[in-house]
Amino acid sequence: MNLTNISTVRDILDRHGFNFSKGLGQNFLINPDVCPRIAEMGNARQGYGVLEIGTGIGVLTKELALRAEKVSAVEIDTRLMPVLDETLKEFDNIKIYNEDVMKADLHKIIAEDFSGLRAAVCANLPYYITSPVIMLLLESHLPIDSITVMVQKEAAQRLCAKVGSRESGAITVGVNYYGTVKQLFGVSRGSFMPAPNVDSAVIRIDVDKERRLAPDEEKFFFKMVKAGFSQRRKTLANSLSSMLGFAKNDVYTSLSELGISESVRIEALTMEQLTNLSKRLMNIAR
Ligand code: SAM
Repeated sequence: MNLTNISTVRDILDRHGFNFSKGLGQNFLINPDVCPRIAEMGNARQGYGVLEIGTGIGVLTKELALRAEKVSAVEIDTRLMPVLDETLKEFDNIKIYNEDVMKADLHKIIAEDFSGLRAAVCANLPYYITSPVIMLLLESHLPIDSITVMVQKEAAQRLCAKVGSRESGAITVGVNYYGTVKQLFGVSRGSFMPAPNVDSAVIRIDVDKERRLAPDEEKFFFKMVKAGFSQRRKTLANSLSSMLGFAKNDVYTSLSELGISESVRIEALTMEQLTNLSKRLMNIAR
């Protein structure tokens, strides 16, 4: 069954009485070149189990299953279950979980389904939870080598920005804290059904296995980063004082000990400056 053929897709969806849900970010891929590329660049190969988030009708799931040893996929929309029974029936290496990815036990899925295999994540992410899903995957310290995902172009730009540049955000710091990120290729809006209003891009995060900070330090680091970026126009001293209750003088002292200007904004700090600053501030907060 060709899941990128528009009339085939329409026929399946009509037979199952399926209507697209905008709220669930349902824009299904119909460009035949895209899913094979995501699978090939996303570690879908022998020796790997791939976790997919959001199957739609299974167009990417199928390409992953053709290459990886096992595919486990989490899809929230119950209406898609009978559709997937039909579209993926020839595969015996796919397991579908009808769950919300934000609530699913991903550690358990990977441990049980991918025992003895390396693991990777591939997805065409629902745009309304791009950053929360990526941060969830990283913050949970899942035993995965890479996260290869399609996101909206603007999200890709933010994810792939340089830490310490105006284009960066909390998510930029997040992905660079946990690994290395790069943009793989762009995808035009016409590659989806229905077509969204913006173009997309596929990015890959190669996940570092070593922790940069101890668990309690890591928790404080992200608290500081989120507080700083939630008021990014303010100076860091102002935002940390209003969001986390730090005395401005304590922030000034820590900044000057690190040779950083007192009037700095969070977006100007490098990863090293951010981790050093958070270690100092955490000691003050204790
Ligand atoms: N992989 C398919 C494709 O490329 O055509 C579908 C991609 S579509 C952009 C996103 C999919 O994620 C939809 O099938 C949607 O129902 C599903 N989804 C949305 N929110 C979800 C959630 N919280 N947990 C799991 N799946 C979700």
